Amino acid sequence: PSKEYELTRRRVEDGVIEMWYFIRSKLKTLNKTLSSDKETIKMLTETMEDIANHRRSIMVDLEKLKDLDGMAVWRQKEAQELGDIVQQRLKYLQNPKDCSKARKLTCSLNKGCGYGCQIHHVVYCFIVAYGTQRTLILKSKNWRYSRQGWESVFKPVSDTCTDESGISRGSWSDSNDAQVVDLPIVDNIHPRPPYLPLVIPQDLSDRLIRIHGNPVVWWIGQFLKYLLRPQEGLAMFLKHAEEKMNLKHPVVGVHVRRTDKVGTEAAFHGIEEYMEFVEDYYKQLELKQSVEERRVYLATDDPKLLEESRQKFPKYTFFGDPAIAKSAAIGTRYSSDALKGIIMDIHFLSKCDYLVCTFSSQVCRLGYEIMQTDHPDASGYFHSLDDVFYFGGQGDHNQVAIYDHNPRSPAEIELKKGDIVGIAGNHWDGYSKGVNRRTKKSGLYPSYKTVEDVQLHEFPTYEEVKK
Ligand code: GDP
Repeated sequence: PSKEYELTRRRVEDGVIEMWYFIRSKLKTLNKTLSSDKETIKMLTETMEDIANHRRSIMVDLEKLKDLDGMAVWRQKEAQELGDIVQQRLKYLQNPKDCSKARKLTCSLNKGCGYGCQIHHVVYCFIVAYGTQRTLILKSKNWRYSRQGWESVFKPVSDTCTDESGISRGSWSDSNDAQVVDLPIVDNIHPRPPYLPLVIPQDLSDRLIRIHGNPVVWWIGQFLKYLLRPQEGLAMFLKHAEEKMNLKHPVVGVHVRRTDKVGTEAAFHGIEEYMEFVEDYYKQLELKQSVEERRVYLATDDPKLLEESRQKFPKYTFFGDPAIAKSAAIGTRYSSDALKGIIMDIHFLSKCDYLVCTFSSQVCRLGYEIMQTDHPDASGYFHSLDDVFYFGGQGDHNQVAIYDHNPRSPAEIELKKGDIVGIAGNHWDGYSKGVNRRTKKSGLYPSYKTVEDVQLHEFPTYEEVKK
């Protein structure tokens, strides 16, 4: 199928989901305003479930269409090929023949934040390394999660070049030609390189946009695939955990982020809010196959939640480890045990068939990004209760208006076809919030009236790497 066909097919999927969010939200509001009238409420509740079923049946048919176009084999092969290209380039970049002469970029793992945030920091460093054709030197001694550093769990980022010395050294600037450059955290980088996420490389963009619903997530996933290659000990640990848990498919991954995050960077969400979308996933799946067990892999930093969930949702089988949740809570978090716990949780989340979580958490985003490395296009395999996908320190997240919009209330903004809108968030009720870059006005607009404006940059193309 052509790129245009694939884009349109995915737009239909998004459109159906957005229409559902819209109707669901309107009916919920109606339900509240009519709260005294029992008959009407019953009718509305039933209507809501009926419409949900309509939606599920359309989604199942759309999935079928995708399988019926005869391109499933092509999709697998294309995704594999694209992934191989990037992996080979990264391997080439990271293994220079002569380390004493190689151009290097140093990056310190110990950003003062959690595991997900630190891993994303390394991804940022690695993307800058790729953009400047410098070998990434990762400094990880006295890592807050493990004194022995990165290599206590992951393979070294280079086999031939881990020595950070060089004949000249300097701080970051995009034109600095010192042999070794020390990269600051993304919050302090100046000047900003023009190719940080959500930007994707020009040379791969046509193929990526054709095959993947959110190319930048795929792109980030490739860096993670290279970075998170486990050492033997960690691989064994994960394998044992997998055997012990005996987790089968289908399974939905739920990540519930609580403790220090609640009230500071994110709102509290009860388990019921997550389970609404888990149930929805299974109801849709049951339209095309029988499901013998509704499985949920629950990752959380709230030690009491596993028990609570089992009590409240007895029809579901919950997988997860309360001991890990205990080690994940703030206060007990930065230890080698906690490290294994978070690696394991993210690993299992990424292996699930669908994710329900809050994209405000780096843990959840990390799981979603890694998930992309296992499928040709898993961009739609999630529901976030809060943010749209983002990358810490990212450039503008822009969309393009494909329809005009005339605001009907002061909360809404005008759109003219072709306008660029900087999206701040999707309210999951049919509307998104953003700023129209032409009028500079900020407010709500119907989500279906815009599409993503994928940003490209001419990265080095690594011609030396043979295909
Ligand atoms: P964020 O704060 O949620 O955006 O993510 P970070 O990864 O930066 O920091 C949160 C830290 O809390 C993680 O790195 C873990 O150490 C811990 N944590 C949070 N949620 C979980 C979880 O579901 N499982 C485990 N094992 N640890 C978690």
